[in-house]
Amino acid sequence: MSKDPAAKTAGQRPAPSARIIAISNQKGGEGKTTTAVNLAASLAAYEKKVLLIDLDPQGNASSAVGYSRGEIKIGTYELLLGGVELKDVVQPTELPTLQVVPASEDLAGAEIELVSVLSRESVLARAFKKAAPLTWDYVILDCPPSLGLLTLNALVAADSVLIPMQAKYFSLEGLGALTGTIGMVRDSLNARLAVEGIVFCMLDKRTNLSQQVVAEVKQHFAEHVFETVIPPNVRLSESPSHGKPVLLYDIESKGAKAYLELAQELLSRAEARSRP
Ligand code: ADP
Ligand code: MG
Repeated sequence: MSKDPAAKTAGQRPAPSARIIAISNQKGGEGKTTTAVNLAASLAAYEKKVLLIDLDPQGNASSAVGYSRGEIKIGTYELLLGGVELKDVVQPTELPTLQVVPASEDLAGAEIELVSVLSRESVLARAFKKAAPLTWDYVILDCPPSLGLLTLNALVAADSVLIPMQAKYFSLEGLGALTGTIGMVRDSLNARLAVEGIVFCMLDKRTNLSQQVVAEVKQHFAEHVFETVIPPNVRLSESPSHGKPVLLYDIESKGAKAYLELAQELLSRAEARSRP
């Protein structure tokens, strides 16, 4: 594609630029990976071009789209620390418009190896810059359950952060720590980092405690809380072992419907933002 600015006036649209969303919460088991995989797949089902990047050395997002441990030859580690370009680590999935950068086994050592890299918190951002313009509509980053260098790289490279959380008492503490980190990243490393939203996962609306937690989060983050909530649904926990996002495993399940609804809500918020 021509980089000539005149190309625009000649009727060609400039190459689209992806919205990069980090799925983060330093607490484990809050629904990050389930959300990263199923939101990515649902956006792809709405014909968006989506790239899912697995930044968690556990590789759960990779296996949930069919790339199991041991068979991943090239992926996130090579992108961050192996000098390999983005286009060479991107791999296909069963959904035509969903691609993935899987977590290769060496990613386990990345947290430590990154420490000695120059500008170690912006390695991923530089990899994206080198690959620009990104031709996906959305790039979804599945973060590990910590606020280490991998998560920091995600927050520095991202346009926004989407926070999945359970409606439990200790989940509130996690949210406080994360918002502190987001503030720090905004002040020093990535001023454009927005909050895409907070989504409640595995939410049982019937319990008092979960209602209290939801109310408390809404008090602090009102407009950021997604109206869509993800209910507890066994299909969501089964589908990863089949190497499939839930919509390819059981499209009729409550879990599949909830993530399609979340994608829809995210898309309509994006549309509202782009209106003058
Ligand atoms: P994280 O990535 O934050 O550690 P996961 O997405 O891996 O969290 O979720 C933790 C566990 O809970 C996984 O076993 C997952 O299958 C399960 N799980 C996540 N969301 C749901 C849900 N809505 N209903 C049932 N099980 C879920
Ligand atoms: Mg995870």
